[in-house]
Amino acid sequence: MTDKKIIIAANFKMNKTHIEVRAYLNSFFKKLKELNININDKTDEKCIETDAEIIFAPPFTALNEAYNIIEENIEFGHLVKLASQNIYFESAGAYTGEISIEMIKAFDCSYAIIGHSERRCILNESDDLIAKKIFAVFNYNSKKIDLNFCEKHNGKLIPILCVGENLDIRKSGKAFDFVAGQLDKALNYSKNNLNSNMQNINDKLKDKSIIEIDELIVAYEPVWAIGAGSSIEPEDGEKMHKFIYKHLNNNYSSIKNFSVIYGGSVTEKNINILMEKEHIDGVLVGGASLDPQSFFNIYKFAVSK
Ligand code: PEP
Repeated sequence: MTDKKIIIAANFKMNKTHIEVRAYLNSFFKKLKELNININDKTDEKCIETDAEIIFAPPFTALNEAYNIIEENIEFGHLVKLASQNIYFESAGAYTGEISIEMIKAFDCSYAIIGHSERRCILNESDDLIAKKIFAVFNYNSKKIDLNFCEKHNGKLIPILCVGENLDIRKSGKAFDFVAGQLDKALNYSKNNLNSNMQNINDKLKDKSIIEIDELIVAYEPVWAIGAGSSIEPEDGEKMHKFIYKHLNNNYSSIKNFSVIYGGSVTEKNINILMEKEHIDGVLVGGASLDPQSFFNIYKFAVSK
């Protein structure tokens, strides 16, 4: 087992009906069982010992089905989690076509992808909107703590914040500044507004003075590498991931736990060289996650080093 917490996430995007997701997950879990992961206290030396997380982000319409299948395979429940591909920042109301945090939590989603480049570019999601969504997640978590909310996975929702430059920005040498700007635009709103909110909650709870709500996954996804067929050079990826680590440590010390994963044309062929890099904690996989065998191979290669 490596020291870093490995995260292997599948983003199905607008692919697969709930029936197709059922077939996919049944096939995936079958392979997972055959992999002989050390779940309990098996002494079999051939067992793979891993706490690497597998995250599935199916379309909203398949979350219920995915939730049911994960329940059916609950022995892997600590490894296999669900994510939504998006959320809206309001909790209810006249927002046609939107989905609230409460709605995805009803299917036990542990994660929400926020600010994917396809939503930024095709759906024109602004930095302001993304910042509000991130805040909504942290705020949701803090309110749940406030209400002594307790369920599986602590009832928390962890944002997977996507950032990444386009090709022009990379060529101009400004990719690092751009990504830092995206992080700040997404996180500063929470940084500035949560403190006062947390103060109120702390006042109410009095004896529970330490509340850790700031858990985050950053997905560095250079737009030019998404669906492109070739990923970033691992050395270049490592430089950006190291930069993101430093930026978060220097500017967001309240974020207690964060991981930085890479997305952009990850396949079973390049997973090993990407995962060798110290600051690449995992991957977010689009195209290559659509086939259960290929996504399973990505997971297997990532954990069997
Ligand atoms: C993505 O869009 O999140 C992604 C990583 O896609 P792909 O793996 O197809 O490049």
